[in-house]
Amino acid sequence: MTEAWRPEDDEPRGASGPVRVRVPAKVNLHLGVGPLRRDGYHELNTVYHAISIYDELTARRGDTLTLTMEGEGTGELALDDSNLVLRAAHALAGYAGVMPHARLHLRKQIPLAGGLAGGSADAAAALVACDALWGTGLSRDELAGIAADLGSDVPFLIHGGTALGTGRGEAVSPVLARPTSWHWVVAIADGGLSTPQAYRELDRLRETGAAGPPLGSTDGLLAALRQRDPRVLAATLGNDLQDAALAMRPSLAATLKAGEAAGALAGIVSGSGPTCVFLTADAADAERVAVELEAAGVCRQARIAHGPVPGARIT
Ligand code: ATP
Repeated sequence: MTEAWRPEDDEPRGASGPVRVRVPAKVNLHLGVGPLRRDGYHELNTVYHAISIYDELTARRGDTLTLTMEGEGTGELALDDSNLVLRAAHALAGYAGVMPHARLHLRKQIPLAGGLAGGSADAAAALVACDALWGTGLSRDELAGIAADLGSDVPFLIHGGTALGTGRGEAVSPVLARPTSWHWVVAIADGGLSTPQAYRELDRLRETGAAGPPLGSTDGLLAALRQRDPRVLAATLGNDLQDAALAMRPSLAATLKAGEAAGALAGIVSGSGPTCVFLTADAADAERVAVELEAAGVCRQARIAHGPVPGARIT
């Protein structure tokens, strides 16, 4: 039996100092939910977009695997192997045949269970950070392969930018778009919503005929991304899970209405919610909409963000 390579056995391999990785949140510009598959997932047709709200993971050498956390929602997160950071570190170590030894520290700004894929982002950050710390030198595509087993959104958060997601969302291909920065307002709600529950609610609404018609193709959105006009993009944003999120959290209707009344070009629920995101014409409009949303008391906090931004990267 060969013994697993230990990072501390071979000093030149991997980083000796701390590795700091920044990872963005995602929104879905288009979230088309298809039928429920035999494996329990829904077939998705989505356009992911990475925005400038970040979590940060620092990895240092250690004799065991440990994780400490601070920031958004970390009081509610277990520090056991259900934590996606630890699951990602174990998955990479297993794949690369190394000991999973590291001291990890997570600083969260992405709200928990907010529909912004914060947990998936943290898993992506852990893969990139541990790969550098341990000197395992995997390609982004190899990391994305490990990521797919950790969660449907994790491969996208390795890559970032704007990308098409198919299958259960794990098959990601970049979208060719003009280099434009879009300006967003992100309205963060009190508390989270469960993603599996939102899908179940959508199934229920569809069974009873109470759901809106499915979004269908991403063609309109992809064409809009090739132009530079936020008004054109605004008209093509859509989310099949929005009816479900609104049924579970009716107060989101007031949030969406307030953002549009404040001058946003369009507002949608992000993923399974309860975060709502608003596209604005420019940075000044985004500032104004954020101030008005907070003043209207329809969200816990309104943050401005831009996108697309890169995925998990060493800073
Ligand atoms: P998505 O949009 O991918 O469905 P979300 O943004 O709604 O996700 P997350 O913040 O990713 O929600 O969290 C979903 C669940 O993942 C949490 O309720 C928590 O139980 C679990 N989880 C495990 N590890 C983490 C982590 N490091 N950060 C956040 N959530 C985690």
